Amino acid sequence: MEFIGTRGASPVYGGVAILKGIAPDGGLYVPSFFPKLDREELENMLWMDYPERAACIMKYFLDDYTEAELKEYADRAYARFKDGEPAPVIDIDGDSFVMELFHGPTLAFKDVALTILPYLMTAARKKYAGGEKTLILVATSGDTGKAALEGFKDVEGTEIIVFYPSEGVSELQKLQMQTTTGSNVHVVGIKGNFDDAQTAVKRIFTDPECNEKLKEMGYALSSANSINWGRLMPQIVYYVSAYLDLVGAEEIDMGDKINFVVPTGNFGNVLAAYYAMRMGIPVGKLIVASNVNNVLTDFFTTGKYDVNRPFRKTMSPSMDILVSSNLERLLFELGDRKPEYVNKVMSELNRFGMYYVDFDKLTEEFPEFQGYSATEEDTASAIDNFFETHDYLLDPHTAVAVSAYYDYLTETGDPTKTVIVSTASPYKFAHDVFMSLTGSDEPDAFRAIKRLHNFTGTEVPEAIAKLRYAEPIHTLVIDKEDMEKTLFDILRSKDE
Ligand SMILES: *Cc1c(COP(=O)(O)O)cnc(C)c1O
Repeated sequence: MEFIGTRGASPVYGGVAILKGIAPDGGLYVPSFFPKLDREELENMLWMDYPERAACIMKYFLDDYTEAELKEYADRAYARFKDGEPAPVIDIDGDSFVMELFHGPTLAFKDVALTILPYLMTAARKKYAGGEKTLILVATSGDTGKAALEGFKDVEGTEIIVFYPSEGVSELQKLQMQTTTGSNVHVVGIKGNFDDAQTAVKRIFTDPECNEKLKEMGYALSSANSINWGRLMPQIVYYVSAYLDLVGAEEIDMGDKINFVVPTGNFGNVLAAYYAMRMGIPVGKLIVASNVNNVLTDFFTTGKYDVNRPFRKTMSPSMDILVSSNLERLLFELGDRKPEYVNKVMSELNRFGMYYVDFDKLTEEFPEFQGYSATEEDTASAIDNFFETHDYLLDPHTAVAVSAYYDYLTETGDPTKTVIVSTASPYKFAHDVFMSLTGSDEPDAFRAIKRLHNFTGTEVPEAIAKLRYAEPIHTLVIDKEDMEKTLFDILRSKDE
């Protein structure tokens, strides 16, 4: 299949889209059409295990890979998840379900895509690259960084540099990144927020001079952020899989609609749900849940996207984002797939930090999307109440989703069965989760873990427990203006 650029870049094959990460003009690659999973295919998939389902879906987009290749990558990637299950669906009360996406190596949903992306990229290098090394450049709000580091560490022919907001991630997220071993990994804190990191990385990607300099040094850039098609595609799989699991468990009949509630930052995860719907999964509502950085809530309730507002730090740091990159892909659909429309809107965003879309068109053509947001108090009470009522421990990101879902239910009374997407282990955010449950502020991260464990009787994931004895290796923190310079310093020091 061909992939086209949202801003008009020439079409490329899937492997090339994955290798490049972003189109040369700064646009994002999208599939030239949405393949349809018909009823027979869905019925066949009912019996498949997760890696088989993954290969079956990915083959439509990546016909420049063989299905056997895709199956092998999925097998290897998903063997790294607890019980080999990357997306188990837990029944909460017969009407709502939690899809747990955090049983991978770094305990956040980013693992589902970032365990398989290195295989897809390595194969694409063999198919398409001219011998240059791949330089993976990542801006992270906390979870992508570690998942990308785990995925790409010691992958041949690859260097990876992760930029994270030094004061904008949880202590455990930071420690996870700083302790990563591997001869090709580099982790750099910046004095700035996630939007600063993401903007600078995007600028490096699209700066011809910078790309030329890298080329001379033998590198071609790629991205492990959700702007990369190779991040989104594996995320489509779990929405299809959740639907099939509910059919398999006789919670719904094939053809019934379900809702998804998705805690959202960069709009990647919920966009994958939308793509699953376009492929034929019956969806009622896609509830876009934001924390107080609620630009998307405003967008879906008014048609105005406006980043001119204070950036707020919250207990769901992976959603502390004002410029949601993947919304560009939805705008592409809203503008009837016309690059001129996307270019116009994106230049307004650049110039004014805001834009308007045709709100009637948005609500008529995309009635599935509903935006809700949760304050910090809402998030804390969701954690507390959900544990009290369902004996189920939420992380703060998932709690934002739960709060949004209850707001939606209060407003609509919608009886449709609903899957809440759970994106991280509560232990990654032990301090805030413990505080939400008990009101007590335990400043020491590892004591917070212990107390959370004692209070709830839930299991401490091994990936967290072992951090206690790991030494931070990557402690560099730089000014946000120095990201490009630091990148070249790192690469030069590799050459020596
Ligand atoms: C990245 C992340 C999100 C937001 O996902 P997007 O695809 O950026 O919308 C939500 N929760 C957690 C735990 C995350 O790591």
